Amino acid sequence: MSTLRETFLKTRNDIKSQKVSISDNIIYRLLINAEGMNSFTELITNFDKTLANPHCFERNLAKVLEGQPLQYVLGEAPFIDLDLYVNSNVLIPRPETEGLVMLVQKLISDNSLNHDTIADVCTGSGCIALYMKYKYPNSRIIATDLYEDALAVARSNSERHKLFVDFMKGDKLQPILESNIKLDVLISNPPYVENQDDIEPIVKNYEPMYAVYSEDGLAFYKEYFKNYKKIMNKKFVMAFEINYDQKESLTKLIGKYFKDEDTSFLFLKDIYDKYRYLIITGGYDVKYFEIWL
Ligand code: GLN
Repeated sequence: MSTLRETFLKTRNDIKSQKVSISDNIIYRLLINAEGMNSFTELITNFDKTLANPHCFERNLAKVLEGQPLQYVLGEAPFIDLDLYVNSNVLIPRPETEGLVMLVQKLISDNSLNHDTIADVCTGSGCIALYMKYKYPNSRIIATDLYEDALAVARSNSERHKLFVDFMKGDKLQPILESNIKLDVLISNPPYVENQDDIEPIVKNYEPMYAVYSEDGLAFYKEYFKNYKKIMNKKFVMAFEINYDQKESLTKLIGKYFKDEDTSFLFLKDIYDKYRYLIITGGYDVKYFEIWL
C-alpha cells in the first residue's frame, strides 16, 4: 500500500528508462483521474493518503507509456470552457477548432448576425455544437454525424452539460436537406486531410481515420457549396476548418458555386500561422478582421 506521494515519486523514477517520456503533470493527472478527484489542489491536500485505486492508475500509466493519447486514456478533453468525454470513436478536440468557434462568435457579435438556427455538420464529440448551445442557449442547434458511435459520445456530452441540441444521423448534409431546415449558420470541421503523410503517427494509430482522412479533401466543402441555397437562409454565415494547403483549391470552388454578388469570403490563419479557416457570408456587409485572437 503506497501513498499518493510515494506512488508519484516512484513512478517518476521508474519512467526514466522508458522510451516515451511523460511529464510530472501527466502523472498528476493520472493520479487525479484514478482517485476520482476534481483538481490538483484536491490531489496535493491528500498527497499522504493511501492510493485507493492502484490498478486503475497502473493500467492508465501503461496505456500512456504505450503511446496512447492522454485524452482517450482519461476519457476527457477540454474544449474552451467545457470538459468533454472522449473515446476513440471521436477526434480529440483540437485548439484549432476552439479557434473556429471563437471566430464564429466574434463574427456574430461584431456584425449582429442572425444565429437562431445553427448546424454543426460532422460533430464528432459534439464540441462545436455544444459550445454554440452554451453560448447561444436560445438558438436551435443541430449536430449531425454519419457514425452512431460518434453520436453516442456527443449525446453523452450533451447530457453531461445539460446542453440540449438536435442530433441527426446521416452523411454530410443529408439530414438537413431531408428535414428542409434553413440555417443561419453552418459550421463544420470535416475530414479534410488528403495526404496520409500529413497525419501524425499518434493520430493514425489511435484516432478515427474517418474523422481526419478523406480521399478527396474537398469532398465535404463541395457538398456544402453545391447545396448552400437549399440549406441556408438568404442571410447566412458558413465557417469551416480547412487544411493548410486548401486555400487555392477552395477559392476556385467558391468561384464556381457562389455567383451572388452579396457573397463574400475570407481565409484566416490559425495560431500556427497556417490558413485554417474559411468564412463565407451571404447577404451581409460584414466587417472582417485580420487578427482575431
Ligand atoms: N487537424 C486534425 C489533425 O490534426 C484534422 C482534423 C480534420 O481533418 N478535420 O489531424
